[in-house]
Amino acid sequence: MQTFTPGSPGYDAARRPVNPTYRDIRPRLVAMCRSVPDVVEALVRATGDRLAIRGGGHCFAGRSSTDGVLLDLSGLDTIAVAADGTATIGAGARLGQVYAVLHTHGRTLPAGCGPTVGIAGLTLGGGIGLLGRRYGLTCDRLAGAQVVLAGGAVVDCDQDRHPDLFWALRGAGGGQFGVVTALRFATVPEPLTTRIEARWTDVPFGELVDAWQAWAPDAPDEITVNLTLESRHATLFGAATLGEGHTRELLREFTDRPFALRAGLPYHRLKQTFADEELPHAQRTRSEFFAHGLSAPTRAALLSEFGGTSRRLAFTAMGGAYNRIPGDATAFAHRGERFLLDHIGDPDDPWIDRSWAVAHADGSGRVYPNFPDPALDDWATAYHGGNHRRLAAVKQAYDPDRRFDFPQAIR
Ligand SMILES: Cc1cc2nc3c(=O)[nH]c(=O)nc-3n(C[C@H](O)[C@H](O)[C@H](O)COP(=O)(O)OP(=O)(O)OC[C@H]3O[C@@H](n4cnc5c(N)ncnc54)[C@H](O)[C@@H]3O)c2cc1C
Repeated sequence: MQTFTPGSPGYDAARRPVNPTYRDIRPRLVAMCRSVPDVVEALVRATGDRLAIRGGGHCFAGRSSTDGVLLDLSGLDTIAVAADGTATIGAGARLGQVYAVLHTHGRTLPAGCGPTVGIAGLTLGGGIGLLGRRYGLTCDRLAGAQVVLAGGAVVDCDQDRHPDLFWALRGAGGGQFGVVTALRFATVPEPLTTRIEARWTDVPFGELVDAWQAWAPDAPDEITVNLTLESRHATLFGAATLGEGHTRELLREFTDRPFALRAGLPYHRLKQTFADEELPHAQRTRSEFFAHGLSAPTRAALLSEFGGTSRRLAFTAMGGAYNRIPGDATAFAHRGERFLLDHIGDPDDPWIDRSWAVAHADGSGRVYPNFPDPALDDWATAYHGGNHRRLAAVKQAYDPDRRFDFPQAIR
């Protein structure tokens, strides 16, 4: 295991988190883990210290940054695919790498955007992506995991072994129960997709939001179209596991406006064609799920607050396979939602809180654990709903001394 301390050669080059907001938080020790024994050793060295686990380093709440001991898992990034399509993926692997390797086996996973997002952080909090309405969350494809517990014990969990831990790893959010070192997934055959994109500058936002929220969450599972509003234009992007003609027909049920379609792309190629954002500058985001559409007054109030550069409202379609799993079957409690609305802006922009509060009037009160929000009052209900009590019992069983802790960690 390579370690770095402030002032030692390599410390300044050690990987920083993706979110610029947390780049100045400097660990007293960075442990670059390349194996399970490295993780065990790093946990021993961190005894009595604050601790953070880092996969892809994208956490919006800075939970993979610390002034104590940082376990950087980026070296644990091997990916192996068995003949039956089961993929064993090291916890340090990133999505771009995962899609590329699975592609060579004709397989893929319903996972997120952003090629450097970590597979572990994404899966442990759920995992929403363009194939999710057809195949579910990334964590719905998790078949097992290897975890190093606080005391250094290494356990394998799945439906039969440590089933409560396995349940909790599927959607409660990362960094809560142990250090996951490898994830085992039931992959899906990689589909050919049609890429969907549009950018409209002349569209009335109110009509567009109404049309989108009435159509996108109920559209066939094979098509996902998400909507982002910026100051002067609307962007729509998505994917269909259908041919161009069928995709165009379905889009006509939503709007007569033009879309650019590109058919015949294996899913990993489609992902490469989207210039996914990688947080080039500091941003703050607050979000909520919606089990019903925005009412006309709420939608009008939301849009009247909106405007100005660097603000965005991003609507992500849910429904489909996401909602065909009972809310208590995995730790991910949000199985009856129609969409996710994200308010994104500069870190000190008060519009984010105003806009969130306006939309909250119609929201379900539920928040995606992978979009953590330090401003939430009742975060336990927002992230975990009716699953919180069972999660608290799992936390007590697997991390009674709270070695893995942060302000909104399960208690
Ligand atoms: C640019 C960008 C694009 C995104 N796109 C999507 C998207 O398309 N779909 C979606 O659902 N989400 C998306 N997200 C949100 C993303 O899912 C979360 O930020 C996720 O937690 C990132 O995981 P990470 O490993 O990259 O981050 P990290 O900051 O490394 O980890 C996130 C959390 O998980 C913990 N963790 C990480 N690895 C482990 C491990 N091995 N064992 C235990 N705990 C661990 C960390 O301690 C931290 O609490 C995006 C975020 C960004 C910034």
